[in-house]
Amino acid sequence: MSLIELDKVSKVYRMGDVEVHALREVSFAVEERDFVAVMGSSGSGKSTLMNIIGCLDRPTGGAYRLDGDEVSRLDRRELAGVRNKTLGFVFQSFNLLSRTSALENVELPLLYAGVPARERHRRASEALGRVGLAERVHHRSNEMSGGQQQRVAVARALVTRPRLILADEPTGNLDSRTTVEIMVLFQELAEAGITILLVTHEPDVAAYASRVVVMRDGRVRTDQNQKARRAADDLAAAAPLEDEPAEASA
Ligand code: ADP
Ligand code: MG
Repeated sequence: MSLIELDKVSKVYRMGDVEVHALREVSFAVEERDFVAVMGSSGSGKSTLMNIIGCLDRPTGGAYRLDGDEVSRLDRRELAGVRNKTLGFVFQSFNLLSRTSALENVELPLLYAGVPARERHRRASEALGRVGLAERVHHRSNEMSGGQQQRVAVARALVTRPRLILADEPTGNLDSRTTVEIMVLFQELAEAGITILLVTHEPDVAAYASRVVVMRDGRVRTDQNQKARRAADDLAAAAPLEDEPAEASA
């Protein structure tokens, strides 16, 4: 069973007389531990797709199963439960409380979940350590660089121990060096067994994922396994060397 299964998912926004088909019968599955980058030009449906996968919005057609549960059958309270238990979110604009310490920002989801103070501190410190900010737990987010703020946001997503992290343009506000740092962090999390789905319009960013899905006009246009592609590239690069002795003997 796949962690994410979309079966002909559609989303139509109605604005007065106008219908916008943001998603048109999108079908694909994401396996546990997959690291997927979703690409595509502005307006192609990437955020709509992420919102549906993140249980923040509902499809107007088709079926969406998350970890085997048909999400459209869940009520609001059950959806909130799935979000808190299974999902972590990372946004382009970090969405931290600005005059609040890194530790308190990361503790927030645990506060909502009713986790006692000691356990909150322990788990939030551990999550900040995991993103390389063990020394900065008491810094306020408005005293941190963009890259550090995004690390805090990743720690906040991690602290509830989600199986899936959804990130919409997480490097959109970062310079290229910091972008690399954040992408390496996502790679480490994927290697540690967390499934990651990330939206980006930069090929350099998508290159860190093991799979790239390209959207266009509300449809999946291409879906490429980069590990297989890289292996094929490596093989092709190695092939001429292997061929040489055979040619020499012919
Ligand atoms: P992307 O994230 O790839 O830029 P979106 O998913 O945000 O694309 O948008 C896909 C299409 O749906 C666009 O045409 C956009 O204008 C439209 N759209 C997105 N959200 C809404 C909304 N809340 N109401 C109306 N139209 C929307
Ligand atoms: Mg978007």
